[in-house]
Amino acid sequence: MRTAVIAIITGTGTKTFIPGGTKFRIGTPYGPSAIITLGRIGNKNVALLPRHGEQHEVPPHKINYRANIWALHTLNVERILATNAVGAINLKYQPSDFIIPIDFIDFTKCRPLTFYDDAPVTHVDVSNLYCPELREYLFKSAKKRINRTWNDAVYLCTEGPRYESPAEIKMYRSFGCDVVGMTGLPEAILAHELNMCYSTLCFVSNMAAGIQERVSTKEVAKEGQMIKNMIKEILVETVTNISRKRNCICSHTLEGARV
Ligand SMILES: [Zn+2]
Repeated sequence: MRTAVIAIITGTGTKTFIPGGTKFRIGTPYGPSAIITLGRIGNKNVALLPRHGEQHEVPPHKINYRANIWALHTLNVERILATNAVGAINLKYQPSDFIIPIDFIDFTKCRPLTFYDDAPVTHVDVSNLYCPELREYLFKSAKKRINRTWNDAVYLCTEGPRYESPAEIKMYRSFGCDVVGMTGLPEAILAHELNMCYSTLCFVSNMAAGIQERVSTKEVAKEGQMIKNMIKEILVETVTNISRKRNCICSHTLEGARV
């Protein structure tokens, strides 16, 4: 039987890094998942899922987030480590910084956002969307390598695929958003809805619109390429070091959530 205790969801600039793993898609009630590679890191079974597809062919607003998270759930995954490229809105951050978000603001517009469209009506608490235990592991591992690693940022998710306008960035800053990306949500919320732990390691690829002259995909990809080996090291170290037993309350998310 195919199982994994931890999953890694990668984004821009990071590809499959489990050599010799088994590749497959999983059919779900929401359609087929992205290609998943199942293999070993240290003494743990790990599922690796590049959310844009292995050739980076799926844009952020077309990713089937529900199928991907549901597929990982069927593999018995309890914890998800993700990576996201972000633009910095808060001027204290700069390109090449690592960011482990603590909270989020959702400005996506037309993505299916929940597994709970039917009865029983379910309202999950997202006071701690990002698992505190995973955040701590990621932060320690990233901080060892890049001193400019931050764990206090509010992650803003926009619909994309276009970048934001300077006026939008100005507004988002006044709302308390620190970094912006297009793929962090609803992925994190969907994982939370299935009692899974979720945390993400973001790297700043550029300053947001209006702070630097223009934002280009080439620049984002280049920054991702430079930093991808370090991201891989951090993820492998986190998977290897983390205890098998969860010491957080993420597995109780659905308690008291149903009407
Ligand atoms: Zn947790």
